[in-house]
Amino acid sequence: MKMTTKYDVAVVGGGIAGLTAAVYAAKAGKRTVLIEKQERFGGRAITNHKEGVYFNLGGHALYEGGDARATFRELGLRLQGSRPSADGYGIWKDRLSTMPTGAGSLLTTPLLSWKGKLELAGWLAKFGKLDTRRYDGISLRDWIESNVQDPMLRHLFYSLFRTATYAGAPDLMTAGPALRQLKSALQGVLYLDRGWGTLADGLGELAGRLGVERLTRAKAAQVEHAGGAVRRVRCEDGTSLETDDVILAVPPSAAHALVPRAETTSLHAWREQAIEITAACLDVALRRLPAPKQQFVYGVDRTVFLTNQSRAATLSDDGSQVVCLIKYQGRETDAAADLRELEQTLDLVQPGWRGELVAKQYLPKIAVCHDFPHIRRTELPGPAVPEINGLYVAGDWASHGELLVDAATASAKRAVRHLLARGGTERMTYREHSRIV
Ligand SMILES: Cc1cc2nc3c(=O)[nH]c(=O)nc-3n(C[C@H](O)[C@H](O)[C@H](O)COP(=O)(O)OP(=O)(O)OC[C@H]3O[C@@H](n4cnc5c(N)ncnc54)[C@H](O)[C@@H]3O)c2cc1C
Repeated sequence: MKMTTKYDVAVVGGGIAGLTAAVYAAKAGKRTVLIEKQERFGGRAITNHKEGVYFNLGGHALYEGGDARATFRELGLRLQGSRPSADGYGIWKDRLSTMPTGAGSLLTTPLLSWKGKLELAGWLAKFGKLDTRRYDGISLRDWIESNVQDPMLRHLFYSLFRTATYAGAPDLMTAGPALRQLKSALQGVLYLDRGWGTLADGLGELAGRLGVERLTRAKAAQVEHAGGAVRRVRCEDGTSLETDDVILAVPPSAAHALVPRAETTSLHAWREQAIEITAACLDVALRRLPAPKQQFVYGVDRTVFLTNQSRAATLSDDGSQVVCLIKYQGRETDAAADLRELEQTLDLVQPGWRGELVAKQYLPKIAVCHDFPHIRRTELPGPAVPEINGLYVAGDWASHGELLVDAATASAKRAVRHLLARGGTERMTYREHSRIV
């Protein structure tokens, strides 16, 4: 197909960030086109309906205190699902023990001494009021090692932070954002009926109602720019979309590849400094749970996590229980070893699960987040690419302190706010752009 059409805004990438950006641009009256290379919108937030089971791409939870939840509420999305109980277990030395997540479990847990319990009780009382901004310049490890006294409590903190952020990198993760994420997680999470695909569907329908032109199976090949300003997006099939503003809601490496001479722009540093968070995910649908009480398990001395999402959401047509396991990966990964560890975890938590298996999905290595707030960053990515007028970035990597899907929605709104505020065609420096944000 070869055609040329003129838009105010072209959004490249139809994951949650791109969908959100397109919706907000259209709400502001901009003639908007959304370009997605896959056959459906959603990116990493799609859900696959297979053998009567709704499998997300790994276990997904929407944080009640996060930007995404507030954004979807503001947009009037009707999300169905509910909050799971936070009562759970911790794996320590190959055994399951009550995890101290509240007053009752704090008294009964064998994981902490009385001294550790007293210290944790103190944290539970003061954590909500903690001024987390003070810790934006140090690593999570530095924060834990200098603020938590009891050695076992430190292990528990590492485990809680890992689960809340998905990042097993306490030496790199900046403490402030991690603390805010944990605070947000402690307000509760939502598991969604029929999975996160419903989010993408809801946003996609809203975008359609607002008049967004939605293209799927349309792979952007290049963002053409001349004289320091965006001119058009060219797709692989030859379609050419004239536009003044482009929001790149794709991973940092893809954004870099789309822009000629990207190495002379901020996109280069953002790509070079990005550190991916990846995970191995094993999701199983079981006819029934062999050990019905053991539905929520933190790895304390293992970098794993298990949750039965069916305890709070409808994720199968026939009542099968969908249990999600995650192995938090470091730099080196080994798909077979990770699968072994996840299956061993399932053996420990749900012995006999193999006899109840209805369906399963294994993702050996998936990017949970293309970047996160870490101490090696020298500048915050986006929203504007200051060297090229009308070029913006969004996505879970374009974080200004948010994490995961909250970074996706927050960065999308930042990009739209920014292009609306800029209005004119004057070039701006990174510092001037930062003032708008
Ligand atoms: C296993 C796992 C568990 C997670 N759990 C949670 C959780 O519990 N809570 C939470 O908040 N977040 C969670 N996340 C993170 C969340 O899913 C992501 O942050 C979010 O979906 C990212 O959205 P995005 O739009 O930034 O990126 P993506 O979803 O990656 O979207 C990018 C889109 O761009 C498209 N694209 C790329 N190149 C082009 C091109 N050239 N032309 C056109 N289109 C292109 C891609 O096809 C894709 O659709 C999890 C993620 C994973 C993988």
